[in-house]
Amino acid sequence: MNSRRKFIITLVPAGLALAAAPAVFAQPAHADENDAAAKGIGYKHDATKVDAAKYPTYAKGKVCSNCALYQGKAGDAWGGCPLLGAKQVNANGWCSAYAKKAG
Ligand code: SF4
Repeated sequence: MNSRRKFIITLVPAGLALAAAPAVFAQPAHADENDAAAKGIGYKHDATKVDAAKYPTYAKGKVCSNCALYQGKAGDAWGGCPLLGAKQVNANGWCSAYAKKAG
């Protein structure tokens, strides 16, 4: 194999990887309710599914989108939460660390 061909064969996969990278970074993964960190704080994607007997601090209307830790913008369906690392939580979710957003 000549060196020019080898050079191109090496560059093409690298270029494809770079082209795909922005899509990966633009769509952070959603939190998994079943992973250890999420279970530890009782996180649910749908706040209405919270076990109110187990989590008496839960009350209807408390959702991630009005929690002080939620990093999504108003109207976003998902947003970051520092308690779940780089993963996104549902705007209608809830966990036991909920803290009402000021204002
Ligand atoms: Fe949702 Fe707030 Fe719990 Fe994060 S800390 S998962 S934003 S309720």
